[in-house]
Amino acid sequence: MSNEPCEHINVQYYPALNDAGWRCLDCNTEFGFRPDLDKGQLDMKIFGLLHDLNEGHFVYVANGTTGAVIQENIRLECEKAQRYDQQFIIQQIMKEPNLNFEMDDDYYKKRWQIL
Ligand SMILES: [Zn+2]
Repeated sequence: MSNEPCEHINVQYYPALNDAGWRCLDCNTEFGFRPDLDKGQLDMKIFGLLHDLNEGHFVYVANGTTGAVIQENIRLECEKAQRYDQQFIIQQIMKEPNLNFEMDDDYYKKRWQIL
């Protein structure tokens, strides 16, 4: 896999250490860490992380509309904080009230208190 820029313009973000997860959607060329894309294609970065957290069963996104709402909420948080890194985005996703966590904080506290 080369890091040479390709002619394509469709990019996707895949979770990666050091935020080096940008790739070409058409030819899979790895672009690695691209702060310009972090800012310019922020929606794609949020989508990529949300998608993999959902696929990995860390969160449950009920449907596409919910996903779009979450994505927009996270984008606003990123812009407010001027943070576009994976760690910040994942923290915001985990705080997102629109995610369908089946059990809330109280549930877990009660579960653990009886042990
Ligand atoms: Zn390409």
